[in-house]
Amino acid sequence: MKKYEVVVVGGSAAGLTAAITAKRFYPEKKVLIVRSEEKVLIPCGIPYIYGTVGTTEKNLIPDTVLEKNGIDLLIGEVTEIKKDERIIVTGKGDNVEYEKLIIATGSDPVIPPLKGSDKKNVFTVKKDDSYLNSLLDEVNKSKDMVIIGGGFIGMEFADECKKNRDINISVVEMLPHCLMLVFDEDFCKQGEDLVRKRGVNVVTNEKVEAISGNETAEGVRLSSGKTIKADVVLIGIGAKPNAKVARDAGIEVNDRGAIKVDRYMRTNDQSIFACGDCCAKVSFFNKKPINLMLASIASNEARIAGANLYEINRSNEGVIGTYSTIIGDTALARAGLSISEAKKNGYDIVVGQAEGPNCHPGCMPGGCNLKVNLIFEKGTGIILGGQLIGAKSGGELINLIGGCIHKRMTANDIATFQMGTHPALTASPIAYQISNAAEMAIKKMKQ
Ligand SMILES: Cc1cc2nc3c(=O)[nH]c(=O)nc-3n(C[C@H](O)[C@H](O)[C@H](O)COP(=O)(O)OP(=O)(O)OC[C@H]3O[C@@H](n4cnc5c(N)ncnc54)[C@H](O)[C@@H]3O)c2cc1C
Repeated sequence: MKKYEVVVVGGSAAGLTAAITAKRFYPEKKVLIVRSEEKVLIPCGIPYIYGTVGTTEKNLIPDTVLEKNGIDLLIGEVTEIKKDERIIVTGKGDNVEYEKLIIATGSDPVIPPLKGSDKKNVFTVKKDDSYLNSLLDEVNKSKDMVIIGGGFIGMEFADECKKNRDINISVVEMLPHCLMLVFDEDFCKQGEDLVRKRGVNVVTNEKVEAISGNETAEGVRLSSGKTIKADVVLIGIGAKPNAKVARDAGIEVNDRGAIKVDRYMRTNDQSIFACGDCCAKVSFFNKKPINLMLASIASNEARIAGANLYEINRSNEGVIGTYSTIIGDTALARAGLSISEAKKNGYDIVVGQAEGPNCHPGCMPGGCNLKVNLIFEKGTGIILGGQLIGAKSGGELINLIGGCIHKRMTANDIATFQMGTHPALTASPIAYQISNAAEMAIKKMKQ
């Protein structure tokens, strides 16, 4: 039997980061990753296989990172965790003894109970290279594609599949707007307009009733009675935790099937930790359960789990929810609470807005507009959230806003923090959007 001090099950965002962190904190320990797949896809890069990147082969996490960090690899599906004996068993018959185990088994796509979803040419977003290659073949052959779900994954797929292809694409969303679980309404409308400008047909307020056709999908029937023609259908309506092997071992899960963890990422077995999409999360703001699944959250939790294996070094304060996307050349991003969520949580809020070019003067090469909304609690002035749309630099700026939220900075802290600026790289110090949005909020708070 093989023996390792630290065994990590899963080799994606959470598993890999947890193993690297374990090695950084405990360099003397032998660390092994056990994962099902030969090749690990960059999960967030999957939509780009269908346009910008072009192939699954160019969207892989290189295994050289394992060698560089002194981590061993075993390919195989873990089928059993014998937690009393501290042994994991793989489908190929490997047995590995551990001192500490980290479960990072991720998530699987949600498949709705939709008539016709088992037809040929109906796909979900599985993190599996050969499955995604079949989807690529179908998209390349198709004239009409329907994407069910107008969240950020559906929008990214629509945008990418449209690139360099003569294909009709419709996105069907049952809510009044696409991206509605992420952004406030004005940002959702702007996002929809951007994807429409790229030639995508956006259908909102419509539920898909069935996928029609014989063996192969031919169309998507909507609640209004309309049918949209489809040679290929992609279902992108979310993901569910993959924690069966943990649950079968007697590790506690919640009612969604996600592994329960404490603030140190420990499960109900103190030698077993969990992180990433497979484990339960709470909100940073009210500590209530939250279902957000992101690679950034997975890596963050993994840095906590890996560091805490033999002594407690870090704790998890809950999910802030910082994320970004891009449609065409326009970035959309959000951190913390949206305006509607803040109100729903009972906060009395003030919103500060600022807009301007991302460089100075705005005619510099690559000059582009960037609009920022910051949301503050009225009485305390503490930042609760931020949303932005425009220049690609917004993808990093939203992380700065996430940091401000994490440190519970006030509008005054943000208005007076010392930024660095450069004509080609940032907005001007006079028009710096984050500082000015904070100033606008302060002005409103004084009224
Ligand atoms: C299309 C798409 C785009 C996305 N874009 C973004 C984005 O832009 N930004 C962002 O932050 N997030 C994004 N996400 C979400 C992000 O991909 C997930 O949150 C992230 O992959 C979670 O990482 P994980 O390691 O927890 O799980 P997963 O990525 O699901 O990995 C699970 C790992 O566990 C292994 N495994 C599972 N069961 C077993 C077993 N029994 N034995 C051995 N190995 C096992 C799997 O093989 C895999 O290696 C996107 C997701 C999708 C699908």
